[in-house]
Amino acid sequence: MTLATVVAGSRPTVVLIGFQKLGNLGLGYLSAVLRGAGFQVRVLDIEAPPAEIFAAVTAAKPLLVGFSLIFQYYIRRYGELMAGLRANGVDCHFTMGGHYPTLSFEQTLLAVPELDSVVRFEGEITLVELVQALAQGKEWRGIQGLVHRAEGGIVANQARPLVPDLDSLPHPDRDFEPTLILGRKGMPILASRGCARTCSFCSIHTFYRTAPGKVVRIRKPAEVVAEMRALHEERAITIFLFQDDDFPLFGLKWRAWAGQLVDELHASGLARKVIWKLNCRADAVEPELLSRMRDAGLYLVYMGLESGTEEGLITLHKQITVEQNLRAVRTLKEIGVRFEFGFMLLDPSSTFESVFGNIAFLREIVGDGCAPATFCKMLPYDGTPIKDALAAAGRLKGDVCAPDYDFLDPRLDRFYADLARIMDVTGWVHGPRALTMQLEWAHTEVAVIRQLFPRLADIDAYEESLRGHTRVSNEGLFATVETLAELHVTGRGRAPDAGALRRQCEETLERVIAERDAFIMRHQATLLDALRIAA
Ligand code: SF4
Repeated sequence: MTLATVVAGSRPTVVLIGFQKLGNLGLGYLSAVLRGAGFQVRVLDIEAPPAEIFAAVTAAKPLLVGFSLIFQYYIRRYGELMAGLRANGVDCHFTMGGHYPTLSFEQTLLAVPELDSVVRFEGEITLVELVQALAQGKEWRGIQGLVHRAEGGIVANQARPLVPDLDSLPHPDRDFEPTLILGRKGMPILASRGCARTCSFCSIHTFYRTAPGKVVRIRKPAEVVAEMRALHEERAITIFLFQDDDFPLFGLKWRAWAGQLVDELHASGLARKVIWKLNCRADAVEPELLSRMRDAGLYLVYMGLESGTEEGLITLHKQITVEQNLRAVRTLKEIGVRFEFGFMLLDPSSTFESVFGNIAFLREIVGDGCAPATFCKMLPYDGTPIKDALAAAGRLKGDVCAPDYDFLDPRLDRFYADLARIMDVTGWVHGPRALTMQLEWAHTEVAVIRQLFPRLADIDAYEESLRGHTRVSNEGLFATVETLAELHVTGRGRAPDAGALRRQCEETLERVIAERDAFIMRHQATLLDALRIAA
């Protein structure tokens, strides 16, 4: 039986399961190539209730279920889901892809006995070949890029090279709802894959460097803009969220590429109709180019700043200086492009001095309330050089779902435990209801209103008030960290009162939401009119 005859009867179905929150382009590309090869595809959200997933998979009678693992600490949850599917009579081929299964395929297959195979690296071609072999009843174990079980162990076939030309792939399926910001619709998009840098805490470069082929591949600007235009015209998308690991901006060649993208946006007429966000390194932020990009709709830049001390940046192998981080922030403020950032208050080289240094850095960049402060502790995930270094030094703790390490100064461990408890109790920084997240959303709304709606009379006053709340929240956060650190260093002072801080956060959040709602209600008619005209 050939695939053609299978397809002529009823097209076999493939189910893909992964995170769908904010859209999953990885699954979208897989879905698109599978549909292009003649298969039906159902994409399911791993966050859906298991009973719903069991029912959907059972009804689909799939040839294969593909699991996309983004966060390694979800491996057990995926394992439980697969066991549940098997218990519900789903006996088809189970495969899995993603950074962790690719780089730690043996651990993956050992941890999840229900898995038949792992698709390593970029999965578009390997997965189609696997599904075609299954549909035709052919032997699949020799397929390039697969890992499978065999008598006597686990066999990793030859790795498949990375997709050399990203524009040879179809546009990804987007079987998910757009992100809505005040009625404007946002969608993720990719202009490139891969990252040329080698940060020690990141597995992205390991993923791309371990595979054969060119590490960074960039689409043609005209192709990127054609996809944007299609989404704008067909689904009324006006906010594009570039999910590139590192948007191509660094060096002469990539700057020229970014300039061409800007030209294409202007030529297509999209520059005045859509806005876009990108992720990049601070050392790629250059005022002239970024100003041109702003004029073509760039409204938000996310940078992984990660540390405010030279030692921290060296440990994290950021290959950047504190001054470069500061300069990028200054540049974005000067040219009026909003920024968000990632920051690791603590890393394996941390000392109390670096904690104070990091807080001083955060105060310098967001002490004015231009963005809410955020931070985390660096965790040693699989596939990262820092995890290997910690293991070699005998400092690695925890397991795949909760990898961790001790600091060199044991007082820092106690400090961090106290800080984590306060952050937990207050819900200040992490979680969808966190004050930081809500402030970030409110700032994003302001940026979107400024770009995609008519000018609202009192928007400057509203933004200033929002900055005021953000300033107070940030300073409270900094003072909490400093007070706690001081206590652990000197034994003097009192620990911050987590309950009182929680009440402060809740009160601030209530005020922020009340002001935001009042502002939106005041301008409801104008906002709705603008949406109606655009529809
Ligand atoms: S953290 Fe960012 S810049 Fe560093 S290697 Fe990973 S993707 Fe590249």
